Amino acid sequence: MKLYQKPIHTLHQQRLAKEVTTEEIAQSVLQRITETEQRLGSYLAVEQSEAVMERAKAVDQQLQKGEEVNPLAGMPIAVKDIFNIKGQATTCASEMLKNFIAPYESTVTQKLLAQGYNLVGKTNMDEFAMGSSTEHSAFQVTKNPWDLERVPGGSSGGSASAVAAGQALAALGTDTGGSIRQPASFCGIVGVKPTYGRVSRWGIVAYASSLDQAGPMTRDVEDAALMLEAIMGHDKNDSTSLTATPPDLMASLRQEVKGMKIGVIQDLDLSACDSEVQRVFAENLETLKQGGAEICPVSLPNLQHAVATYYVLAPSEASSNLGRYDGIRYGYRSPEAKNLGEVYQLSREAGLGREVKLRILLGTFALSAGYYDAYYLKAQQVQNLIRAQFQKAFTQVDAIVSPVTPTPAFKLNAHLADPLQMYLSDAFTIPGNLAGIPGISVPAGFTQEGLPVGLQILGGLLQEEKIFRLAHWFEQNQTLSPPPLAL
Ligand code: GLN
Repeated sequence: MKLYQKPIHTLHQQRLAKEVTTEEIAQSVLQRITETEQRLGSYLAVEQSEAVMERAKAVDQQLQKGEEVNPLAGMPIAVKDIFNIKGQATTCASEMLKNFIAPYESTVTQKLLAQGYNLVGKTNMDEFAMGSSTEHSAFQVTKNPWDLERVPGGSSGGSASAVAAGQALAALGTDTGGSIRQPASFCGIVGVKPTYGRVSRWGIVAYASSLDQAGPMTRDVEDAALMLEAIMGHDKNDSTSLTATPPDLMASLRQEVKGMKIGVIQDLDLSACDSEVQRVFAENLETLKQGGAEICPVSLPNLQHAVATYYVLAPSEASSNLGRYDGIRYGYRSPEAKNLGEVYQLSREAGLGREVKLRILLGTFALSAGYYDAYYLKAQQVQNLIRAQFQKAFTQVDAIVSPVTPTPAFKLNAHLADPLQMYLSDAFTIPGNLAGIPGISVPAGFTQEGLPVGLQILGGLLQEEKIFRLAHWFEQNQTLSPPPLAL
């Protein structure tokens, strides 16, 4: 196995045992980027190799002196281009922010910095995180490393493809309606959306603030635990960040699945899913049963309204959040504008992509005086019902499992002309955002064509320990035979 294919925790053990150096690890990842990036397109910006190597070397020197370092120290990690990194461009894959240089650091990257992580680059995404395929990036298309004719998922598609291909050992993503879990599933890696408020949103470009959460995208569950432990916690700069004590995720990895009660949602119509997704999910349930878990039906009848509810709430918040891109305070200003009205109009016309404009229109409509009650208020009411139903379900079970997505990775261009089809790919992930609960996507099998399929594990509010326990056990107790990557 090449170094770039290994999980961080394994590499850390190996360097403690002096079998490998951080420099060798960094070199392996950089080499992999050189070999594959032209075909894959994961990155919007890659760090100078000298800088990456310097940081790796510094960690090796610390280790030589016998200093203790965090497992993440010196490890090449990619960051979705939605996080502010002081002094660097944060484009959000938008023409609007193409030349925007972040004046301050996001809390999450600050926390990773404190552990000594080695930034390797900023990854491609759907513009302003709106999309499920990364095809809405204003700059480039990212391919799925398992099949270069397919999408990596989105909106954190660049992060997912980079990790799956070994162009980074782990990456940061954000998830508003599934943008960590869905691309993780499409690319065969682990992705975690924590409980809303676990991770600070300070310094992350806002899409729908009441739903946005950042989280890790990694090669395995233990790496996800390492990374989430590094980034979670209260932050006074984000008033929605929680003061609850952060869980001990590493400890939860050592526990059995035996005796856990696992819910299967009765109201999800899986017959509409791809037949291979159905097969993998049935096999996954069998694995869990054999491990001694008790599978229990749970009822969440309002889930059928989740996608519709999300597509009122998220665009509403987006229309308000994106009001700041007015050609004056942030980002692109049209040089042709001759008066104030034209500054707004022409700057937004040229600076924002089609899907983003569609969302702004939808949101502005849903919030407008005559329609507020009929759309926005109604959607909030349905959201409350969904929350309450999850809360009730989690009094009966420890976790709820489902497929992550109804289909495996689809072909490039397949859903571009039909936004609704694109939206439906998040049907199973959106409920978790609406309820604010934590969810993890863990590799669960492969289709006959050789595409990865994920299992989603949802937990009750603040119950990250339970989903990590289940995900880790599941990961260690199933047999996956991955076909080779396409590059
Ligand atoms: N695909 C969903 C959307 O377009 C979710 C995106 C996300 O989680 N950022 O809104």
